[in-house]
Amino acid sequence: MNPGNVSINYVALILPFSFSLILIAIFKYDFLALKTLARDVLFEKSSDGMILIDNTSRLMDYNPAAAELFQELNNSMKGKTIEFILGSQIDLLKILNTNDTSDIKISLGDSYGYFEVKTVTIKNDFGNIVGRLINLINITERKNDQEALKILASTDALTNLYNRNRFMQLANLQMECSSDYNTNFTLLMIDIDHFKHINDTNGHAAGDAVLAHLGCEMKKYFRRTDIIGRLGGEEFAVILPSTSLDAAKNITEFFCDMISKEPIICGNKPIYFTLSIGISVYDRRLETFSEVLKLADEALYESKENGRNRVTVKVL
Ligand code: GH3
Ligand code: MG
Ligand code: MG
Repeated sequence: MNPGNVSINYVALILPFSFSLILIAIFKYDFLALKTLARDVLFEKSSDGMILIDNTSRLMDYNPAAAELFQELNNSMKGKTIEFILGSQIDLLKILNTNDTSDIKISLGDSYGYFEVKTVTIKNDFGNIVGRLINLINITERKNDQEALKILASTDALTNLYNRNRFMQLANLQMECSSDYNTNFTLLMIDIDHFKHINDTNGHAAGDAVLAHLGCEMKKYFRRTDIIGRLGGEEFAVILPSTSLDAAKNITEFFCDMISKEPIICGNKPIYFTLSIGISVYDRRLETFSEVLKLADEALYESKENGRNRVTVKVL
């Protein structure tokens, strides 16, 4: 450009104008794409797993945290549907079609993790849905803490059996179940004989050891489906679901006899102890669990009255 052949360098005139344009581009129109860069860094460095899919569920991108969670995610999978890639993650796929937040359990090799899954719909400037971002937040630690608290709140610390509260809750559930499905259950009330004497002669710690030992023996002896609780002090209870009175009596007499013959060794000294047990059985005429409990309690009282170290049955 040299109009008039006057040898003027017009670049010097244009430079301030183009410089202003560049400044406007940088500051007004995000020319250096700072926001985009920030988004990229967030995506790449986030400890939450992120998976980007388009509006036909095809994989567009994923971050390293997501790749660590799912070995199936690799570059060759880009363009394939998420259903094809993560076909084994049934719980995850189920919630992808909703925009809800859900907690799911994901298998991680030989262990499990809990994840809060959020899906965010992505729209373009015209308001059309162009894809979705799946966000997976690891909440395993929080879940495990909640589980531990739940166990703590329902377990007796000394014996690891259900505490009174939890036992009563489960007993009431058993009562409802037996009443609805016309099944029966038997209830055992167990009390250690002369426990005060054990404490007095061997010390409180030895008494505690006896309680823990009995808890352990009960867990070993009864079935996994039986409900075993420490109701307080040296008093225990067991619910035997779907067990006839005769069977319960035999099982209990064997246990009572076994405990009386097996001392616990405390400081090289054997401590023998015995149990008094009362048995009652669920009957449709008994409306509340307290009524079943009362019968078993009366049977236990009879065992004590008749010399201890024995099993007594009381039915309606
Ligand atoms: P019985 O044969 O009539 O049942 O007599 P007992 O001595 O077993 O019953 P009693 O109710 O007179 O005494 C129960 C004792 O249990 C009194 C209490 O100090 C003791 N005890 C209650 N809870 C615990 C505990 O957690 N640890 C220990 N070591 N002792 C406990
Ligand atoms: Mg006692
Ligand atoms: Mg007692």
